[in-house]
Amino acid sequence: MRKPVRVRFAPSPTGHLHLGNARTALFNWLFARHEGGTFILRIEDTDTVRSTEESERMILDDLKWLGLDWDEGPGVGGEFGPYRQSERAGIYREHAERLLAQGKAFTCYCSDERLDENRKRARSEGTVPQYDGACRHLSESERLAREREGLKPTIRLRAPEADIVVEDMIRGRVEFGKEMLGDFIILRSDGRPTYNFAVVVDDALMDITHVIRAEDHLPNTMRQLFLYDQLGYEPPLFAHVSLIVAQDRSKLSKRGGATSVYELRREGLLAGAVINYLALLGWSHPEAKEILSQEELVRAFDLKRVSASSAAFDADKLEWVSGHHLRESPLSVVVAAAEPFARSAGFDPDDVRFSAIVDLVREGLGRLSDLPGELAPFYDGEFDLEPEAEEWISQHASRELLGALADSFAAVQGRLDAAEFKAALKTQGGALGLKGKGLFMPVRAALTGRTHGPALGSTAELLGRERVISRCRAAARDVET
Ligand code: GLU
Repeated sequence: MRKPVRVRFAPSPTGHLHLGNARTALFNWLFARHEGGTFILRIEDTDTVRSTEESERMILDDLKWLGLDWDEGPGVGGEFGPYRQSERAGIYREHAERLLAQGKAFTCYCSDERLDENRKRARSEGTVPQYDGACRHLSESERLAREREGLKPTIRLRAPEADIVVEDMIRGRVEFGKEMLGDFIILRSDGRPTYNFAVVVDDALMDITHVIRAEDHLPNTMRQLFLYDQLGYEPPLFAHVSLIVAQDRSKLSKRGGATSVYELRREGLLAGAVINYLALLGWSHPEAKEILSQEELVRAFDLKRVSASSAAFDADKLEWVSGHHLRESPLSVVVAAAEPFARSAGFDPDDVRFSAIVDLVREGLGRLSDLPGELAPFYDGEFDLEPEAEEWISQHASRELLGALADSFAAVQGRLDAAEFKAALKTQGGALGLKGKGLFMPVRAALTGRTHGPALGSTAELLGRERVISRCRAAARDVET
């Protein structure tokens, strides 16, 4: 019988959630949700120097924002806990001691200086630095003598005697010669496990069925498979996803734009857009659909469609996906996401018109960080007049048109709606012999300071009668005669 799917995302809390890690989390989550399995979050904080609680909080926060909820892990619990490696020290020690007792591991008392020297020598000779086996065959009395000196040993696993083969779900068969592995450390002298050891013990005890992670972990998988073998645990299936690279195929770096989920959040992308875009980095929909909701992604996700070649981060495509989500997501979602962007730019999101304005301007938006510029014309106060807008206002009988429009709007009371606005425009334009751009551009320029934007009638309706009149008059007055 097939075991129920259990996958995990295992971040080291050493900074913001990087886009590469976010994609790893997403693929694991999509796979779990698609398969009706369990998605586990495990915090790999054995690197006590670099790990911080603040980083853990930020990563959890970004995952929640992305909508990648976990079934077991910090804050949720579960029967395979604890889910922070720093809380599992006893478990790792117990496993290391088991390997020691079986003779599969040994204690090593070599000083850092000695190991450093060995490494340097290997490098200068052009060979792969590997432990020289000095403590591999210590007798019991030699070992006790070192203990009496007060030396604290590391625990090393004895190197493999056969080559190691990884059967990867994405990359196929990958072979590693046994010479690539020396006697590697599993427990440091201060009792902390090394990364590979902790991961294997945890993945085994947490019943992980599939390990989906980035390709740069393949050499770790070689070590890990050997550890499974030595510990007598059945290994999970492995799927190594290709790396995300920059457009020029170099490593993704700040130069290429955002590199973390937090930055994309700050730039005002919707979570649905980020997930959609990340899913396309290395995976493709069977019908080549590119705009996909979270539900559609869950339904369609399949590890078989994950590509083995690297995926290039494309900022333009991200913006395109983002624009789609801004236009097509429920208005309430967009409005809620838009509020902080409006507020921090000094535009009141509690204005009764706010959601209608957002609905109107979202048509042309790629990200919410551009929202304030679009909101400005709808609020009282200064807004920029584009040079081209200024030109339109200063020609084509604009002065007469704007003055006449202001008069006709002022003659009527009550709410100005788009139909009334358009009718007045037609009448006054007709009277002055203006039509097409010559009619619309000066009015748009007067009302918004621009020559492009959302539908003019709806814009006027949202501005309201008073603002429309005063902007027409102000523009008419400012035109040089
Ligand atoms: N803590 C590791 C990392 O952040 C996890 C690797 C793994 O998935 O095993 O790279």
